Amino acid sequence: MSGVLVVGEIDRDGIRPGTAELISAGAALSEQGAGPLAVALIAADAASHTATVNLAGVAEILVVASPEPRFEAHVAQVALEALIASRNPAVVLAGHTVDSLGFVPAVAARGKHGFASDVTGVSWSGGVIARRGAYGDKLSAELDFPAKGTVLVLLREGAFAPAEGGGGATISAPDLELGDAARSEHVELLEPPSGDVDITKADFLLAIGRGIDDEERVPEMQELADKMGATLSASRPLVDAGWVSGAQQVGQSGKTVTPKVYLALGISGAVQHVAGMSKAKTIIAVNSDPEAPIFAIAQYGAVADLFEVAAELEQQFG
Ligand SMILES: Cc1cc2nc3c(=O)[nH]c(=O)nc-3n(C[C@H](O)[C@H](O)[C@H](O)COP(=O)(O)OP(=O)(O)OC[C@H]3O[C@@H](n4cnc5c(N)ncnc54)[C@H](O)[C@@H]3O)c2cc1C
Repeated sequence: MSGVLVVGEIDRDGIRPGTAELISAGAALSEQGAGPLAVALIAADAASHTATVNLAGVAEILVVASPEPRFEAHVAQVALEALIASRNPAVVLAGHTVDSLGFVPAVAARGKHGFASDVTGVSWSGGVIARRGAYGDKLSAELDFPAKGTVLVLLREGAFAPAEGGGGATISAPDLELGDAARSEHVELLEPPSGDVDITKADFLLAIGRGIDDEERVPEMQELADKMGATLSASRPLVDAGWVSGAQQVGQSGKTVTPKVYLALGISGAVQHVAGMSKAKTIIAVNSDPEAPIFAIAQYGAVADLFEVAAELEQQFG
């Protein structure tokens, strides 16, 4: 049993960006002694995406042509089970995403493999060690897997730097029996409601928290974000109150974001919020409380009334 197997993810736009993060985590494990790194692509058009995943550290790319035109969890499950049976990897890395959550836990349960989800760090010490939050992210737990056998780990998107550079991988197409693996039928693709934004792709996020105090202030903040070329995001209380959409929530139970700039107005910096934004390149916090925990992780901070700062920004960008 040796080697790292990354399960790449492909959606309508091609390879999902999280796949490069899985590869960098896999390459690090490989360097630490876990064995060679292979990337499996399971999709009808898998063969057309090999160049995108031929990144530094990848030794082999496995092209698994799915008989289904779109992602189908049972096809992915059967394919991954067959790959594990034939290759016996020490570790399988997949994204902590809706698609992977649809089949990787099932593979782990059926094969009695080790399993951890929502993992934010991995290392190798004769076996894989996975780090993840515990007790609402108040603690960081390290898990090891003493039983022998393959361990399946789902990595949180945004928690690892993406792999870069060209690799020199060999490409092969294992012959897997997937013909009648599908058990669900694709009925319809529903676009998210207009207005829902993908905050994970934004370079500049204006994030608002309970400090704005009044739902009527939200449109003002949206206008300010538009003026500044930022995307509006929020802490959970604003989502729970129905003031902004769930797609805009940053944090442990929301999205993990990695913008170049994260401007937080009236956000205290609770651990569950910070879990989703601590990897932002530059964090700027505005809070009237000098003791607010957000200042501990912000590169720039202003102890100020957020509305005064917002008014000044309106002027500057007006
Ligand atoms: C299991 C679990 C999961 C969770 N998941 C998430 C998550 O994904 N995302 C998330 O955000 N939270 C999450 N939470 C909630 C989290 O614990 C906090 O309650 C939440 O992040 C607080 O949001 P906030 O900072 O906007 O509000 P508060 O903590 O109330 O902070 C408001 C801040 O605004 C400041 N302020 C007030 N008025 C002004 C003003 N006029 N000018 C400037 N500053 C002002 C205050 O000083 C204060 O620091 C979760 C909690 C649990 C238990």
